[in-house]
Amino acid sequence: MLKGSCLCRDITFSVSGELRGMASACHCGQCRKQSGHHWASGNVGENGITIDGPVAWFEASAVAKRGFCARCGSFLFWKAHDEDQISFALGALDEEAGIRLQRHIFVADKGAYYEISDDLPKLERS
Ligand SMILES: [Zn+2]
Repeated sequence: MLKGSCLCRDITFSVSGELRGMASACHCGQCRKQSGHHWASGNVGENGITIDGPVAWFEASAVAKRGFCARCGSFLFWKAHDEDQISFALGALDEEAGIRLQRHIFVADKGAYYEISDDLPKLERS
């Protein structure tokens, strides 16, 4: 069981399901704007995560919504409308969970102010 929370702890979540796909650092413009840098996330089926607290959802595009805490600003979740899974912020986990980043995505949109200096796979988009 993974446990996470926003900065003020009004929102907590626990992940009991098996993670899907790869832990990713997303460099798209929306993730950079919302997080302040690239955004690291894990992915789990909707049934595999329990979220408690007043998540505010921002519809950044027709494709997906972005969940955050309206009190402290933590960017916690990303959910595509047509998928039965949800991405959660690895930076919001409360304890070492043994998860390691496995890839970079949307590197075509990354900021010019940094370089990606590890050897993980880099996908132009997702
Ligand atoms: Zn909060």
